[in-house]
Amino acid sequence: MIPFLDSSPRIIKGVGEKYLKILNRYRYNNVYDLINHFPEYYIDTSETDNIIEPGIEKVYLIDIKSSSLYRNYRRRLSIINISGTIGEVPVDMAIFNKPYMMELIRASDQLRIYGKVLVKGIQKKIENPRILKSEEGIIPVYKNIGAIRSGAVKNFIEHIFVQKDNSNDILPEHLVKEYKFEPFWDSLEKIHSPISSDLKLEKIKERFIYTEFLFFQLEIAYIREKSGKIIRERKYSISDPEKIIRDHVNFQLTSDQKKSVENIKSDLTGDFTMQRILLGDVGSGKTIISFIFLLFAVKNGYQGAFLAPTEILISQHFENAARFFKGINIAILTGNTSASERKKIISNLNSGKIRIVFGTHSLINDKIIFNNLSAIVIDEQHRFGVAQRAALFYKGEKADLMVTTATPIPRTLLLSLYKDLDVSEIRSMPKGRLPIETLILKQDIREQFYSEVKRRAEEGEKVFIVLPLISASNRFRNLRSLESETPFFKRMFKGVPFGMLSGKISPEERNTVFRKFSDGDIRILISTTVIEVGIDIRDATIMVIEDADKFGLSQLHQLRGRVGRGDKKSFCYLFPSSRITDTGSERLRIIKETSNGFEIAEKDLGMRGGGNIAGTEQSGYLDFRISDIREYPELYFKASRDASALIKDNTLQNIHIKHKLELIEKRLKKISFS
Ligand code: ADP
Ligand code: MG
Repeated sequence: MIPFLDSSPRIIKGVGEKYLKILNRYRYNNVYDLINHFPEYYIDTSETDNIIEPGIEKVYLIDIKSSSLYRNYRRRLSIINISGTIGEVPVDMAIFNKPYMMELIRASDQLRIYGKVLVKGIQKKIENPRILKSEEGIIPVYKNIGAIRSGAVKNFIEHIFVQKDNSNDILPEHLVKEYKFEPFWDSLEKIHSPISSDLKLEKIKERFIYTEFLFFQLEIAYIREKSGKIIRERKYSISDPEKIIRDHVNFQLTSDQKKSVENIKSDLTGDFTMQRILLGDVGSGKTIISFIFLLFAVKNGYQGAFLAPTEILISQHFENAARFFKGINIAILTGNTSASERKKIISNLNSGKIRIVFGTHSLINDKIIFNNLSAIVIDEQHRFGVAQRAALFYKGEKADLMVTTATPIPRTLLLSLYKDLDVSEIRSMPKGRLPIETLILKQDIREQFYSEVKRRAEEGEKVFIVLPLISASNRFRNLRSLESETPFFKRMFKGVPFGMLSGKISPEERNTVFRKFSDGDIRILISTTVIEVGIDIRDATIMVIEDADKFGLSQLHQLRGRVGRGDKKSFCYLFPSSRITDTGSERLRIIKETSNGFEIAEKDLGMRGGGNIAGTEQSGYLDFRISDIREYPELYFKASRDASALIKDNTLQNIHIKHKLELIEKRLKKISFS
């Protein structure tokens, strides 16, 4: 029998097939995952001073003077209009499409609400507030999970507490003791329904952060335990690599690049398959090395596959590849590829007609039977999970594998992740690169600064502007967003074509904007961090980051790496947010003074968030739900050590860990580690 916590979320009351699908899509695969969806913030319903702070969400008591219901059946619209006062101040309130609230409102003189006051001229207005019941205490507010609304998520979580069968702790007893963690369900209860707002939740959360690290590390430890060197089956002959390179590359490789090629060559002509990670700062020239690797494979009659995490990245690589692999049949396969095209490509991969395929994750998900796949490149590996790596590995059975990463992961951490990979490192930049000048600006010169930016764009320079948010957020009230700044930029950049990119727009649209920027039809690209990974616009020279202190160090470094890729002098301008913390200032100082990504990574490690907006999804590290390696490096390394011990422990009793290990074994069984 599957333990409660390891069961599918389907067993929770209210989770039907439809919700299950969404949950699974967001990697909520069991009850434990779901209960690890912690509140984004809490509302303390008892806390109100009735002082109106425009634009800020808070609890207010509103005295109702009058109310009316407006309905338009044809447009399926209803509005409850309320006029009343907060303290002595007149305020209007509108509640959309909740006609059933009318009864409650008619019966009350006063409402306790959570919402924000907007000032429109002399009028003060609240739209769609959350109506609070009088003594709810502290209410957790959850982030939506995809299309599952916050309220539904809250219901699921409440049901987990009702349905729980006093299952065992998810962690083995000896670890709970060692780390002095509080009891399992008690801790969860404190996080999901705290009784007071000043509970020290950070400390309580640590057990779950640790657990997430541990589960992640179990898989790595398992692979490491099982995988070893794989005897090479496909033989290579690379007699004159210099000539191959000369024929395809029109610049001099740097000495580190040459060394990496040497490493690859000796792997390919050695006794075991290549399992190598290519480590190098942004812009250090990793792509060319992975192309050379693929070229070796093709020259020896094998096929290659190149994977990148995003649509934009892979398209860009494919374009460069088209130039590089002259006369070699290559193809691209992404989420955008039409079904018929996809079919054709898959069939041509099967027959061997296509020699190299470029793709996003969709390559992993498709059932592709290659003719003779031998060389696999996974670009910007940090975005991939270990499981995917294994899946791919399986596909190219006994293939040679190269993963590349610019994520400036500190060495210690890198080794804990990729103990089974050999490392090649590109430390020096290609010749002729000018250092990027980084400047921290003051808010009061904003207008002046952007008119200068406009002037430079008009003269032909390409500009990135990065904002932390797509639209305004309750949680990060004082930060700028694409939406909030659009009017400002429209005014500032009148007459200069600019484009906007966010994760919200469709991939096709995104590609179009990106293409225009690349071609110079757009000179200014305003975006969220979607441009973070790998984008290569050689002639971009200006990077502006708004609310820069709210980004993580590695993220800032990655963003800065989008400029200074050609031979023109480039600049990175940082605008601090209006409520900068000490850690935030420290981050900006480090970025200004340090240009080496790996040095920055070392500094990043152990630097607590301090209001860092980047959730772990965005951090450029691994995809953890609640954990962040940068914030808890010690816990991470401890978990890594504990995981290794656990998989070797024959006396292990904990059913959850046992179950986890069984799953890992099942998943990896198909892979022939020999
Ligand atoms: P990354 O390591 O971040 O993936 P890229 O491979 O995209 O970097 O390389 C950045 C840019 O530098 C590319 O335009 C590439 O063509 C160029 N480049 C790479 N190696 C050299 C070199 N040895 N000399 C000059 N330019 C180079
Ligand atoms: Mg790259």
